Amino acid sequence: MKLNLLMTGNELMSGVTVDSNSALIARLLEPLNLRVGCKLAIGDDMEQLCTEISRLAGMSEVLIVNGGLGPTSDDLTAEALARVAGVPLVESAAAMAHLETWCGRRGLALNAANRKQAFLPQGAELIPNRVGSAVGFRLHHLGCEILCTPGPPGELRPMLEEHILPWLAAQYPNSEPVVITRFQLFGIGESSLQELIRREMPDWPPDVELGFRAGAPLLELKVSSFSEAAQTARIACEERLRALLADHVIGMGNDTLPSRVVALLGARGEHVALAESCTGGLIASLLTEVPGASRVFEAGYVVYANRIKERALGVSHATLEAHGAVSEQVVLEMAAGALRESGAEHALAVSGIAGPDGGTAGKPVGTVWVAWGSAGNIRARELYFPVARKLFQTMVAATALDLLRRDLMGIVEEPRYFRERRVPR
Ligand code: AMP
Ligand code: MG
Repeated sequence: MKLNLLMTGNELMSGVTVDSNSALIARLLEPLNLRVGCKLAIGDDMEQLCTEISRLAGMSEVLIVNGGLGPTSDDLTAEALARVAGVPLVESAAAMAHLETWCGRRGLALNAANRKQAFLPQGAELIPNRVGSAVGFRLHHLGCEILCTPGPPGELRPMLEEHILPWLAAQYPNSEPVVITRFQLFGIGESSLQELIRREMPDWPPDVELGFRAGAPLLELKVSSFSEAAQTARIACEERLRALLADHVIGMGNDTLPSRVVALLGARGEHVALAESCTGGLIASLLTEVPGASRVFEAGYVVYANRIKERALGVSHATLEAHGAVSEQVVLEMAAGALRESGAEHALAVSGIAGPDGGTAGKPVGTVWVAWGSAGNIRARELYFPVARKLFQTMVAATALDLLRRDLMGIVEEPRYFRERRVPR
């Protein structure tokens, strides 16, 4: 089925608004096995609107037009569609009733600008808008179903979920199951991942689709099948991927590093305490975002100044003097202090140079020491992330959580993280 999108609005042209609606539409269409063929974004210009509606309708079975349904003079969609279809704009009783209710609920009088929104191209079917004043509408024109939808994402989403998707599902039934599995990976780069799969799985089946989305810190690998026939092949691919990617697999679907750490600690009935310097509490924040964190998270010490490292966690003055705050000895003492002060079974400690200042020849910006473990078994590792301050913090927090995750899972082999580079010596 040929389905295309026409996104409208001057704000999309000027860059004031980033077009997220087309992505929303595409994501919601995926489970129906419907794909967007092409999408075009244009400004609020009557001539251009008419040209593009007409052109795209000629090459689509379904055309979704987004934006331009508001009460203001730059909202031109209804009029443009009426011109293209060669029909007049007529007042819709249902749209007027909706506007009256909408205004009434807000204690507003219906003004001329609002009344304009009740005029739809003759023959158009109204699509209800549960949230906003602008109703959507559908018009059949020369073999194409043209669906006009509102710009505000908070109005578009319910209209899609409650009306447009059910209508599309009924109109273009898909008897084939669509299954999409998402692997959440850490510590491996997109290109190495692609290479690994190419090398180890050269017989990748053509009807199983592979998708990559590189995020910081996780990399998402999407494995999809769009037919009953492809199901077995997809399941086999997933099993092989699980074995191939092994300890890089953080989890599936919406799993994250902190959610996995909270789950692993929860399963053991154990707790973690943090001693953070360069991440400034980011790891604590990530852990406490996870529902149920209170069962496993004991304390997070943000020990920025050396004097506080000493006073709060008992890091020795001599160690700080001899090795500096960013050192193996100091993170080991920070972790030991966090264990002692909190009574938690596990600790994570980080101390590094986020930059842009503060680097030296021996300890350049991007250097970080991470310690993790439990009483009597605290290990430390030097890592090097020479990236901008914020990404540095993101990567340090993620890597620290991953080291703890590996520890909790009993993975003995230490990983080689792809974003990490060797500290120049
Ligand atoms: P409308 O009055 O229907 O043209 O839409 C008005 C508002 O919806 C705009 O000011 C934007 O804030 C938002 N909007 C419009 N188009 C998009 C889009 N493609 N992606 C995200 N938001 C949008
Ligand atoms: Mg607009």
